[in-house]
Amino acid sequence: MKTTPPLDPKAPLVADTRTMSRAPGTTKEWSADIDVTDKLGLDMIAIPAGSQLSVRARLTSVSEGILVTGTVSAPVEGECARCLTAMEDAIEVEVSELYAFEDSTTAETTEADEVMRVQGDLLDLEPLVRDGLVFAMPTTPLCRPDCRGLCAQCGERLDDLPADHGHEIIDPRWAALKKFV
Ligand SMILES: [Zn+2]
Ligand SMILES: [Zn+2]
Repeated sequence: MKTTPPLDPKAPLVADTRTMSRAPGTTKEWSADIDVTDKLGLDMIAIPAGSQLSVRARLTSVSEGILVTGTVSAPVEGECARCLTAMEDAIEVEVSELYAFEDSTTAETTEADEVMRVQGDLLDLEPLVRDGLVFAMPTTPLCRPDCRGLCAQCGERLDDLPADHGHEIIDPRWAALKKFV
């Protein structure tokens, strides 16, 4: 079993539940707006440095631990997978995770990498937020849902070209015949 380093209660994605009653049904709102200092994501699509990611969560005491439900949202920037122009969008994802009390049956019957743990009074929300963002990142980012991509002949964006854009493709055999016309 791996040992996890103690959580820093002041870390931006650590929720402190010290003041929260453990009576089942008790809820507490928790939110954070985090400045993104380093680009988060992939080359094609990422949360840009200098932007802010937001977490709006509700913590609910349940008999086995604390249930965290909420929304993670962030702006994303990248490149349209079809026409390669720069695009901006926003992602928003619902997250939900049970953090088991250390002395609960759930904690005793599961591994720490299967079910998150309440560490003292602290909840490490970082894995939840990170997994949510990874899940929400579009695998095919598009500048708009029906982007028509690039013209296979000239490589221009079809959305920037007139509707009747086309190239006269002449079969080389006919081209030779044309000389006789
Ligand atoms: Zn596009
Ligand atoms: Zn073209």
